[in-house]
Amino acid sequence: MRASKYHINTLKEAPAEAEVASHQLMTRAGMIRKAAGGIYTYMPLGLKVLRKIENIVRQEMNSAGAIELLMPVVQPAELWVESGRWEQYGAELLRIKDRHQRDFVLQPTSEEVITDIARNEIHSWRQLPVNFYHIQTKFRDERRPRFGLMRGREFTMKDAYSFDRNEEAAQASYDAMFAAYMNIFQRLGLEFRAVAADTGSIGGSRSHEFQVIADTGEDLIVYNPDSQYAANIELAQAPCLIAQRGAPAEPLVKTPTPDAQKCEAVAELLQRPLADTVKSIVLATEPAEEGGQAALWLLLLRGDHELNEVKVGKLRGLDQGYRFATDDEIMRGFGCVPGYLGPIAPLEPIVIIADTTVANMSDFICGANTEGFHYTGVNWGRDLPEPQVADLRNVVAGDPDPQGGQLAIQRGIEVGHVFFLGDKYSKALQATFLETDGKPALMQMGCYGIGISRIAAAAIEQNHDDKGIIWPKAIAPFQAVICPMGFYKSETVRNAAESLYRQLQEQGVDVMLDDRDTRPGVMFADWELIGVPLRITVGDRGLKEGMIEFQQRRAGESANIPVEQALSHAL
Ligand code: ATP
Ligand code: MG
Ligand code: MG
Ligand code: MG
Repeated sequence: MRASKYHINTLKEAPAEAEVASHQLMTRAGMIRKAAGGIYTYMPLGLKVLRKIENIVRQEMNSAGAIELLMPVVQPAELWVESGRWEQYGAELLRIKDRHQRDFVLQPTSEEVITDIARNEIHSWRQLPVNFYHIQTKFRDERRPRFGLMRGREFTMKDAYSFDRNEEAAQASYDAMFAAYMNIFQRLGLEFRAVAADTGSIGGSRSHEFQVIADTGEDLIVYNPDSQYAANIELAQAPCLIAQRGAPAEPLVKTPTPDAQKCEAVAELLQRPLADTVKSIVLATEPAEEGGQAALWLLLLRGDHELNEVKVGKLRGLDQGYRFATDDEIMRGFGCVPGYLGPIAPLEPIVIIADTTVANMSDFICGANTEGFHYTGVNWGRDLPEPQVADLRNVVAGDPDPQGGQLAIQRGIEVGHVFFLGDKYSKALQATFLETDGKPALMQMGCYGIGISRIAAAAIEQNHDDKGIIWPKAIAPFQAVICPMGFYKSETVRNAAESLYRQLQEQGVDVMLDDRDTRPGVMFADWELIGVPLRITVGDRGLKEGMIEFQQRRAGESANIPVEQALSHAL
C-alpha cells in the first residue's frame, strides 16, 4: 500500500469525551469516527486491524471444528418470546417494528436464531456434535456506551453455539472452545487471563471469561499467583475470600430481593461499627433494567475522596444524612478507593452493594472488622445459589487451591466469554433429536463469544505509550512502514525504497510505503501514533554507506542494517 493512495488522517487532539487511551488513540490515528454514541465507522486503518483479529479467530474456530454461517442482525421477536428473553432482556435489547407493525430485535447475541436452526436442521444423533459460529454485527443499547470500541452499542462479535447429545459431550465441546480461546489470545499477542465467571443474562450454569489485563478494565479479577485459581470478582464472592483470609464466614448483610428489605438491611449495616471508620457515604439507585429490579448501590469510602455534585435522593429508610451519587460517581466508585488495585490486604474499608441484575458488578461486600480486614458478600436479585469454595474449585481449571498463598486483584477487559448452557434454550424452543433408541432428546448447548472490536481497543489499552499505539505484530494494520527521506528529490532513495517495498510485498509482508512527501517529523509522528511495529527509514546519508535504518516501535531503538540484509532483517 502507498500512503498517497490510502486514507490517512491523524489528529493532534482527541475528542474531549475520550477518557481512555484506546478511544483517544484510535480517534487520533484515524481508525474510528463516531456516528452516534457508541456507534462508529471503522475507517480503513481500523478495519484492517479488525479483519486481522477476525482472521485469527476464524482460523482457530475452523481448526477447532466449528462451522461458519451467518445469521441475521434483524431477528423476529417470536423467537425471543419463545425463549423468554423478549421479556427478560430489558432495555439493552433494541426492539424495532417493521412497516406492518411486526416486532423485531437487533441481535445482541443469537441463541434464539441458532436454536431455531438446530431444531429444524438436526434430527438425528448422527448429526451431532455440531458447532456453528458467525462473525456479525451486534447491537446492545448499553446504558453507558463509552470508551470508544471498548463499550460500543453497535459492535462486532464472534459467537459460536455448540450442540451435543448429552452433558458429557457438551462439556467436551466447551473444553475444545476453551482451548481454542487460549490459542486465539496467545496468537493475538495479548497478556490475558482466563477466569471463572458469572453467566449474566445469557444464562446457563458454568462459564469462563477471557480477560485482557489492563488498568482501565471495568472488571476486577481475583487470582492466586501461586496456583491456577482466577475468577471475575463477580463470582469470587465471600466464601472464597473468607476461606482465604480466615475471617468470619457470616455475611454482613443477607437479604432477599425486595427493595424495602434491602434498605432495611443497609440501614442496619450503617449502624454497625464499620460505619464509624467511614468518612464518606455514597448511596445511589439505578432504574430497573435488565432483570427488572432497581439496584441499590452503597459505597462507604474512608479517607479524602473528591466527590463533586452529590445529589440527595430519596430511598425509604435511607434518606437522612446520606448522599446519593450521580452516575459518574458510581462509575468512578471503584477508582475512588486508594489501594483498591493492589493486593487484597491493604484495601481501604469499602462496602459495595450492587444488584447484579442491573450492573455487571459484583454483589459483594469487603469490610473491615477490628482484627483487620475481612471480606464477605451478599447475593441479591438472582436465583443462583451463592457459589461455594467447592463450586469455585469445580469451575476453575486445574488445581486452584484458594487456601494457599495470597490472592491478588487485577483489572481486566472482558474480551471473550464461554458458557455452558445445558438445555436452557433447547428446552424453551424444543430443539430435540432422535437418540439411538429412537426417542427424542434435548440437545445440550454451549455458547462462546469473542468481542472482535473490543479486542482492538483492549490491545491498545495494554500496549501504548505517549507517542501512540504499539500494536502486537499479529494485528497491526501494517507490519512495516518504509519512510523514504526525500522520495521525490532523490532517485537513489526512491529506487531503494521502491525495491525494498516490492521485495517485502513479494514475501507477503503487509507493508506501507509512505510516499506522501511530508516532512520526516510529521511522517514519523504519524506512524508512531498509528503504531506500526517496524519503521524502515531510507535516506541518502545512510545509503551512501550502504545502510538502511530499522526501528522497532516498542523498543524504540534504531539500528543500521546493510542494504543487502534489509529484506531478511524485515521478515
Ligand atoms: P460486559 O460485561 O463488558 O458488558 P458481557 O458480559 O455483557 O460484556 P457477553 O454477553 O459475554 O458480554 O458477550 C461476549 C463478548 O462480547 C464479551 O466478552 C465482549 O468481548 C463483547 N462485548 C459485549 N458487550 C460489548 C460492547 N458493548 N462493546 C463491545 N464489545 C462487547
Ligand atoms: Mg461481563
Ligand atoms: Mg454487558
Ligand atoms: Mg460476558
